[in-house]
Amino acid sequence: MESVKSTRKINNITTVCGICTAHCGLILSIKDDKIIEVNGQKNHPVSKGYLCPKGKALASIIHAPDRLRHPLKKNKGGSWSEISWDSALDFLADQLKNIKDQYGPQALAVHVGYPGVGREFTSYYNLFCQAFGTPNVSTPGSHCHFSKFLAASVTIGTLPVPDFENSRCIVLWGSNPTVTSPLAANLITKARRNGGKLIVIDPRETFMAKKADLHLQPRPGTDGALALGFIQVILKKKLYDSNFVNNWIIGLDYLVEYLKIYPPRKNRENHRNSPKENRKSCETLWK
Ligand code: SF4
Repeated sequence: MESVKSTRKINNITTVCGICTAHCGLILSIKDDKIIEVNGQKNHPVSKGYLCPKGKALASIIHAPDRLRHPLKKNKGGSWSEISWDSALDFLADQLKNIKDQYGPQALAVHVGYPGVGREFTSYYNLFCQAFGTPNVSTPGSHCHFSKFLAASVTIGTLPVPDFENSRCIVLWGSNPTVTSPLAANLITKARRNGGKLIVIDPRETFMAKKADLHLQPRPGTDGALALGFIQVILKKKLYDSNFVNNWIIGLDYLVEYLKIYPPRKNRENHRNSPKENRKSCETLWK
């Protein structure tokens, strides 16, 4: 049987990596139901053949011998024992019933990590929470993606993918793409090689911050003040496209009034950079 299997041919399957939202194009070489090689799709419109270390490791992740495949229950001494799916479901049902009986359904909170978001079981955990009676469901999107998506949708109608490669100035504000979006980090590095400027706004000195033209370090929780400071400089020095603003922006007068309650002096107290550095960042944005 083994010799028959090993004569099977290699199938190359074109697909995308599902580990993160970059969804890089992949070509998987499959033999005997196993991934034997992982390559980036060179003609993919966004990733253009790029794969980060996680994507490259797909075969070893999927076929890892110690991958969790059965329910495990913790013993008193801290060791783990394999149990059947039926026992695991009975145990969970008992625990959930106890919580509901003692504290009510809203005492249960369910958080689903990114590997579970957008997968086939997404609708099931939502249904489960509705049936159980708890509204307390969260995903990584609750903490970052949805606010970004909503803000972009109400201002420009969609959540765009930035054209990093052709940007003259890139601002990474509280973003660490080297870790969270390696594909974006790769495109930003290319943009920098093409002469694009990079401003990093982050209290931490990230990898990208070390490479940036300018690194601004606001005190945690003061991003809004820094943004207001930017707007003040942009308006004062007229670093904006007045034609665009006159035709497309509403509420500029209101914004000018609002800025009066937040003078630059107040803004200066909130971050470690000098006003000169902040002015420089605004001017870099415009050039
Ligand atoms: S950046 Fe890495 S993990 Fe994300 S889709 Fe691309 S290869 Fe997969």
